Amino acid sequence: MKETKNPAALILLFGATGDLAKRKLYPSLFNLYRKGLLSNKFAVLGVARREKTNEEFQNWVKESVQTFGESNDQLSDFVKHFYYQSHDVTNSESYRQLKTTVDNLDQLYTLEGNRIFYLAMSPEFFGTVAEHLKEERLTQTNGFKRLVIEKPFGHDLASAKELNNQIRTAFSENEIYRIDHYLGKEMVQNIEVIRFANAIFEPLWNNRHISNIQVTSSEVLGVEERARYYDKNGALRDMMQNHMLQMVSLLAMEPPIKLTTEEIRSEKVKVLRALRPFNKEEVHKYFVRGQYGNGVIDGKQVPAYREESMVQPESNTETYVAAKLMIDNFRWAGVPFYVRTGKRMQTKSTKIVVQFKDMPMNLYYKNGSSLNPNLLVIHIQPEEGITLHLNVKKTGQSVETTPVKLNFSNKSVDGMNTPEAYEKLLFDCLRGDATNFTHWDEVALSWSFVDKISEVWSTEKAVFPNYEAGSMGPIEADHLLAQDGFFWWPIADFDIDNC
Ligand code: NAD
Repeated sequence: MKETKNPAALILLFGATGDLAKRKLYPSLFNLYRKGLLSNKFAVLGVARREKTNEEFQNWVKESVQTFGESNDQLSDFVKHFYYQSHDVTNSESYRQLKTTVDNLDQLYTLEGNRIFYLAMSPEFFGTVAEHLKEERLTQTNGFKRLVIEKPFGHDLASAKELNNQIRTAFSENEIYRIDHYLGKEMVQNIEVIRFANAIFEPLWNNRHISNIQVTSSEVLGVEERARYYDKNGALRDMMQNHMLQMVSLLAMEPPIKLTTEEIRSEKVKVLRALRPFNKEEVHKYFVRGQYGNGVIDGKQVPAYREESMVQPESNTETYVAAKLMIDNFRWAGVPFYVRTGKRMQTKSTKIVVQFKDMPMNLYYKNGSSLNPNLLVIHIQPEEGITLHLNVKKTGQSVETTPVKLNFSNKSVDGMNTPEAYEKLLFDCLRGDATNFTHWDEVALSWSFVDKISEVWSTEKAVFPNYEAGSMGPIEADHLLAQDGFFWWPIADFDIDNC
């Protein structure tokens, strides 16, 4: 049985004044606290560049929770566990001072030497911080030590390897928790359960019964304040290498023999190994890149990507990518996985559509046309739930069919918001459960797959912009499916007869 409460621990949070800490980490920690899921023996030592007193920091944490989370009268007690130290990540003396504070807090809260080092800061510092932690003996402890590291993990395989080597000097693989926050989402975690806990799905989950699977993650927002990072990376590296491939591997993996971290990861790794690699010609055939031009969203004119601040006026960076992925194994041979992700699209939505094969013989009428396929739609966000599209008899004398939708919505069942991805991931990390974090093998395989695409794209100038802000992306992404006789199912809720 897994622990229901976390063990004593110190969270040493680098980047404590940053956007991620403010919007996600403090509200998530407070949720764990008010639900009684945190041990009382916990302390958070926030470090960042700015000078701040403990009291100023505690007020900052309080404000973050009040603004971005749910607060109550336990908040004042909660923030008493927070301490602050101004820190320069490149300065050894700064780490020596940290060690003194860490040792003091360890005694004060009887933390048993348990330490979580959470790097919520620019990735350029990840390696340096890990090395300094070891050199200044912060990692020398009798308790557990864990490193939580935010994305991006490198920008290609070579840089990811270099970073991995750096952090591995101070932490072993099973002490490294690489965050992919999609893996903390309720409905992403539900993919395995839907598949492996339902006799009506698992026997059909293969190339004999499924014609194609579509995964969409669309955003309405543009590049916002991330242009400096994003313009060097684009959608392929920012979304496809991690979140999209992670969802594909959960959809395609074999049932693990046990629900342990090692068994689940090893099945996911096999999917990534079975991804068909593409040569240059095939990249053009199987991948579509796009960049948004200007357009109208919610009645407001929005600028083109190249007009955004901090973006190069001639930028060749893709803000959209669609792909037809093939998984060359027994289960999936011949079944396309169509994936697409982009910014400045029509609707914010992450959704999976599993399309089942047509019936071998159509016995029934349906307005004179063929039967609709059965679809299983998994709504990841903002809605959380599943919809099953079936055909039933139309009421009356005829033998005509009519489509129906069976809906399950998480929110209407639980009557409350499901926990934030970060809340679940922090809880897992404190308990030492790394299942929903990315193993190095997954990172390496994803990069080596994605690198082949970026190598081709980096040598060829794209004709950008090629989709209007507020649309569903470039028309070429429709052709990707049309050549196989399919089309993208809508991302908003839909009636199959209108598609
Ligand atoms: P941010 O720029 O808002 O914050 C950076 C933090 O690092 C600040 O606290 C700053 O004081 C600190 N810092 C910077 N240079 C420092 C130095 N030399 N010494 C000590 N501290 C220093 O960044 P963010 O948006 O919070 O993102 C942090 C990480 O989380 C990044 O890896 C990012 O990719 C990742 N991430 C962020 C979000 C998000 O919603 N913001 C989502 C997913 C992943």
